[in-house]
Amino acid sequence: MDDLHPSLFQALPDAVYVIDPATSRIVDCNRAAHEDLLLERDDVLEHSVLSLQTRVHGMPAWSAIAEVIRRNSPYRFIGGHRRADGSELPVEVVTSVATLNGEERFISVARDISRRPGVAAPPDERATGWQILHDLADGVWDWYPAQERLVFSPRLHSLLGYGPEEMPEVIETWKDNVHPDDLPVVITTLQDHLAGERHQFEAVYRLRNRNGHYLWVHDRGSVVDWDDEGRPLRVTGLVHDVTDAKAVEARLQREADRDMLTGLLNRRKGMGRLEELLARAQRSGRRLALIALDVDHFKPVNDRYGHLVGDSVLEALGRLIAQHAPPDAVAMRWGGEEFLIGLPLDDGASGCRLATTLLTAIEARDWPEPLQDETITASAGVTRSDPRIESINDLIAAADRALYLAKREGRNRVAQSEYHPPCHAERQPEATP
Ligand code: GH3
Ligand code: MG
Ligand code: MG
Repeated sequence: MDDLHPSLFQALPDAVYVIDPATSRIVDCNRAAHEDLLLERDDVLEHSVLSLQTRVHGMPAWSAIAEVIRRNSPYRFIGGHRRADGSELPVEVVTSVATLNGEERFISVARDISRRPGVAAPPDERATGWQILHDLADGVWDWYPAQERLVFSPRLHSLLGYGPEEMPEVIETWKDNVHPDDLPVVITTLQDHLAGERHQFEAVYRLRNRNGHYLWVHDRGSVVDWDDEGRPLRVTGLVHDVTDAKAVEARLQREADRDMLTGLLNRRKGMGRLEELLARAQRSGRRLALIALDVDHFKPVNDRYGHLVGDSVLEALGRLIAQHAPPDAVAMRWGGEEFLIGLPLDDGASGCRLATTLLTAIEARDWPEPLQDETITASAGVTRSDPRIESINDLIAAADRALYLAKREGRNRVAQSEYHPPCHAERQPEATP
């Protein structure tokens, strides 16, 4: 925003959008704008007038509106903005044409008019039976397989940012916009329903909007009419935009997998990942290093400075481990002040080298008050997997033995221990009579 004063732009109580008239994309917006929409600023920038305005459908419609705005700037109209929770915010929008950084831009100021008396949906949008259905869902579709015709409701068009004339009424239009990773499962589910193996079609998948950005949708439908031979004649369904619910779900999942204090994987998730890493290494005939790392004399730190200061040390160590561990490593808080790091030994990676790097970084760290005069160190035990290894627990036991050695030899050092296969593995050759 070179030509608009940035802090003023942000502080305005009305929502302000900067729009590229050629595409209708939102290229900038202020805080009031994304707060009104219940979105983060970056998410608003994924949108266009076509995906935000519930009453503007399709590029030709937008081009016509853009022409009107150019001729009548500032141009005022009453519309509705689609919010992240699915509700519609009635707005009065005043749009003027400006040149910013040498490019033509529309500046739209949108004012929430939901609390103004007398503002309601226009009479032609008042509820009829079909309309109620349209209002309950973000989209309705109606498919006539024999006629190869798939009809999309206006809200489904605008959810995806298209106008009616831009979405040919054929099943390919839909298929082309389903995320390729989701398509096989979605199609199988639909076919199972058509074949009578499922009582309805129901799927959660990603659907691409006009800007190339994917929305998560929950789509549920069923056959409502059959021909005399039992073949489906008409299939109808409802689509709901569940993008926000999906984002919350993903965040909760991420949080459930993480240790709150250190941000590393927690023990449950970390163990699962380590098992996968070991299985992959075994399949490809490669090795896996495992590092067990434990803070030296941590109890006195807690005793002297209190538990919260102790916590801040663990938090910092979590960050430090995350920083130094390569992307293919699995780092977890094993418990208390002990960490485990699994490292695939490809491309010259070395468990001892990573352990040494970590211990050096921990020792060299300058701690903030009240630890400014303290040097905190840790010890590490390193082991390597072996084709004979049976379970991740054997590998952890070996790393733990090495850690015990490092402690016994004076701490702040790395010790190694070879994996010892269980005794029965050694005895196996003579086991068969
Ligand atoms: P060593 O060098 O032998 O490892 O000595 P140490 O004092 O580190 O070992 P010990 O196992 O006796 O003590 C570990 C301490 O770690 C005890 C416990 O109070 C502390 N601790 C474990 N979990 C947490 C935690 O989440 N927060 C804090 N602040 N302290 C913790
Ligand atoms: Mg310790
Ligand atoms: Mg310990």
